Amino acid sequence: MLVEMEANQFREFGKEMIDYVANYLENIRDRRVLPIVEPGYLRPLIPETAPEKPEKWEDIMKDLERVIMPGVTHWHSPRFHAYYPTGNSYPAIVADILSGAIACIGFSWIASPACTELEVVMLDWLGKMLGLPEDFLACSGGKGGGVIQGTASEATLVALLGAKARTMDIIKKENPEMSDAEIIGKLVGYTSSQSHSSVERAGLLGGIKMHALQPDEYNKLTGPTLEKAIQEDLEAGLIPFYAVATLGTTSSCTFDRLDEIGPVCNKYNVWLHVDAAYAGSAFICPEYRYLMKGIERADSFNFNPHKWMLVNFDCSAMWLKDPTWLVNAFNVDPLYLKHDQQGSAPDYRHWQIPLGRRFRSLKLWFVLRLYGIENIQAHIRKQIGLAHHFESLVKADGRFEITQEVTMGLVCFRLKGSNEINEALLKRINGRGLIHLVPSKIKDTYFLRMVVCSRMTEKSDIEGSWKEIKEAANEILTKKE
Ligand code: PLP
Repeated sequence: MLVEMEANQFREFGKEMIDYVANYLENIRDRRVLPIVEPGYLRPLIPETAPEKPEKWEDIMKDLERVIMPGVTHWHSPRFHAYYPTGNSYPAIVADILSGAIACIGFSWIASPACTELEVVMLDWLGKMLGLPEDFLACSGGKGGGVIQGTASEATLVALLGAKARTMDIIKKENPEMSDAEIIGKLVGYTSSQSHSSVERAGLLGGIKMHALQPDEYNKLTGPTLEKAIQEDLEAGLIPFYAVATLGTTSSCTFDRLDEIGPVCNKYNVWLHVDAAYAGSAFICPEYRYLMKGIERADSFNFNPHKWMLVNFDCSAMWLKDPTWLVNAFNVDPLYLKHDQQGSAPDYRHWQIPLGRRFRSLKLWFVLRLYGIENIQAHIRKQIGLAHHFESLVKADGRFEITQEVTMGLVCFRLKGSNEINEALLKRINGRGLIHLVPSKIKDTYFLRMVVCSRMTEKSDIEGSWKEIKEAANEILTKKE
C-alpha cells in the first residue's frame, strides 16, 4: 500500500516550516556567517541508505539544526558581504510555494497559459520600471519582448546564439557560396577583459572566437577600443557579429561606455547585448538611469531580479528587440509540442536553452505587488547609502584606501601596502568567520570587495563589519611589526 503525506499533514508540516523559516531569517544575525565544518562533514550525520519505511516529518524538522545548518553559509546575514547579493523576501518565498503546487512546465502557451501570460506582462511591468525603451516591451505592439531566463549566463549565451543566427542569415544572403562551417569559423565577438567569466564561456559554448578587449584607465570598455578591434578583424577577413557591454562589472561594479559602444555596434551590424546582472536593479531609481545611457542602441538587455531586487533565485530578466532570431534559431517543432494557438502568444521554449521552465513570474508578481515600486526603490537607495557609509569609515582610517569609485552597493578597498598584506588580511577576516568577503584583482592590484548584501542590513551592521575588519587589520599589522 502506498503511504504518502496527506493534506492535513502537509498543512502541519508547512506551517511548522514557515515558522522555522521566519525564525531563521529574523534571527540570522546570531549565526556565524561561515560554517566551521570540514569537507565530508555531512555523510556521517545521516544513514548510508534511504529509509525503507516512511519517516515522520517531525524527524526531518529535528534534523535541520543537526545536519543542515552547521554546513550553511548564511548568505542573508547582514554580515555576509561576498560576491553580489542574492535576492530573498517573504513574498518571493510564498510565490515559490504556489509555483511548487501548480508545478507546471510552461514551455508553450497551451502547456499553461497563465505561466506564459503572466511572464509577458511582468516583463513589461519590469521594463517600464527600469525605463527601458518601448521597443523592448511586448506591450509596444512591435516585435520586442521579455523572458525570464534562469541566469545571466544563460541570457548571454542565448543572445550570442541569436546574434549568430542573424549574422549567418545576412552573410548567406550576401555570399550564397559560403558554407555554414566557413562562416562560423570567421565569426568574432567582443567584450571587455573585465566582463564576467560567463561571457567568455558563452563564446566557448557557442563555438565562436570572443575577444577580451582592454578597458580604459577607469576599467570601462570604450567605443574607440571596440571600433579599432572590429576594423582589425574586418581587415583580417573575420566577421564581427556580437558584443557584450557590462553595466556593473563583477570585480568593481564599473559601467562600460554604452553610449559609445552602441553606435559602433549599430554601424557594423554587431548585435549588442547588455549584461547588467547586478546593477540593473538600480535603474528602477531614475537617478541611476544615466548609467544606462545609450541603451536604445542595444539588441538585448539582461539583469537579475534574483540578485538585488528581492526575488529569490532563479529569475534573470532578459529583453530582446527582435526575438524572432532566437525563435527561428531554436525552433524545432515536433508534433507533440505543436498547438492550435501557435503564433498568438510566445512559446517560451523557443527563447531559451532547456525545454522545461517553472512558473517563475509568480515571484515577480508577488514581490512587485507586496513591496510596490517605492519600497523597491527605497531598498536600493538604502543599500547604496550603506555602501557610502562604509566608504566614509574606510576613508577615515589612514591605513586603508578605496580603490574604485563607489556607485552601487560595492566598496572596493585595501590596506595601503602590498598585495600580500591584503591577502593576509582577507584570510584573517574569513578565518574569524564573523563576516565574509571575497577579493578581486585589477591590473595586479589585489583588493577586498565589501558588498551590502542582506536586505536586513542596518547601519549598525555595517559598523559592526567595519569593526571586525579593523580588528583583523590590527592583528595583521601588529604581527608583522
Ligand atoms: N554578469 C555579471 C556582471 C555578474 O556580476 C554575474 C554574477 O555575479 C553574472 C553575470 C553571472 O550571473 P548568473 O549567476 O545569473 O549567471
